Amino acid sequence: MKSWVESAAVENCHFPIQNLPFGVFSTKALSPRCCTAIGDYVVDLAALEEAGLINAGGDKPVFDQPALNAFMGLGKTAWDGVRAQLTDLLKDGGNPALKGNDALKEAAFIPMDAAAMHLPFTVSEYTDFYAGRQHAFNVGTMFRGPENALPPNWLHIPIGYNGRASTVIVSGTAVRRPMGQLKGPNDTAPRFGPCARLDIELEMGAVVGLPTEMGEPISVQEADDLIFGYVLLNDWSARDIQAWEYQPLGPFQAKAFATSISPWVVSKAALEPFRTSTPEREKELLPYLAEPGPMLYDIELEVSMLPNGGDKATTIARTNYNNMYYSAAQQLAHHASSGCKMNTGDLLGSGTISGPEKTQYGSLLEISWGGKEPLTLDSGETRTFIEDGDTMTLTGWAQGDGYRIGFGECTGSILPALVNKFPRAEK
Ligand code: MN
Repeated sequence: MKSWVESAAVENCHFPIQNLPFGVFSTKALSPRCCTAIGDYVVDLAALEEAGLINAGGDKPVFDQPALNAFMGLGKTAWDGVRAQLTDLLKDGGNPALKGNDALKEAAFIPMDAAAMHLPFTVSEYTDFYAGRQHAFNVGTMFRGPENALPPNWLHIPIGYNGRASTVIVSGTAVRRPMGQLKGPNDTAPRFGPCARLDIELEMGAVVGLPTEMGEPISVQEADDLIFGYVLLNDWSARDIQAWEYQPLGPFQAKAFATSISPWVVSKAALEPFRTSTPEREKELLPYLAEPGPMLYDIELEVSMLPNGGDKATTIARTNYNNMYYSAAQQLAHHASSGCKMNTGDLLGSGTISGPEKTQYGSLLEISWGGKEPLTLDSGETRTFIEDGDTMTLTGWAQGDGYRIGFGECTGSILPALVNKFPRAEK
């Protein structure tokens, strides 16, 4: 299938007609509203909806607003219906109502570099998991030694913690280096100061489209049906704050200061051809976590680092989402298993995605092995963790036959800590 939008056919384009992700944009003239992407263009869905070319099936417009939540809450029939309408409008030889309407094309197609992207949905709540086998093993080895690397529950439960929706931000938003309590292994007392071991976590985020009822568990299949789509997610992490605070309830301030997501939510429908199974179980799972079919996706992922003042980013990791031990559907089923209510707009972080090779590690903690093995960038500079002014970028795509389902980028630069806001903090 091809689109009449020429830039959609360029090799390695993230947004061919097979993708049609959902987002929210604005321009100087247009207030934030829902959009899709094709080729080099953002397409204003509110304009297409107003012109009567797309209809999500509800009784009122859903795209003329600054978040996808209303559309997400309509469910799979609406999601698939709008995708089919858009495909027909944008493909070669399809419905000519858009291609043949120059005024509407002029209004609805905005060059990507003229559009500001916003958080694509209102994040109801954010939960982060720890479902990458290699990452859990690596971090556990550093913190507790290889014999005790995996906690005894790890092969039975998708471990998670409740994070902060309030600081989920869209790609491109700068991140302030956090301040916090720090206590090194040889320090006699904690001190308060800027994080010195600032890190990323390469993750995918699953976006919950439909809610569950409080008190009612769901199966893994039902959980999969509730997921609207996926985003790239960077779970920024302050490793020194984390090391001191994490026991016994898990991360708190070390993760609360920022989580970045890509502006595009790639629909489950676009990812359907790339479904793949979770790896073989090392311990049989309890029946409520059993997967009825392939629930993971084959998605290539990369991390790059642009050092402060540099002009060229270095790729520092390449891995694949298929490394996860638990799928998002299993995580969502586990989340609801106690009776916890899940809502439209909930965001589930996969956990750091690391492959078995060192070049496949999804955090600097692992790449520099706890800061002991500095990484050399293409510029010759070295890094163990992130310095002020550095820019970290995640990207990812599912590779099809002659096309790519891309996620775009999830990027963020680090601003210096506000040390002077804290009179007694060390400088
Ligand atoms: Mn994480």
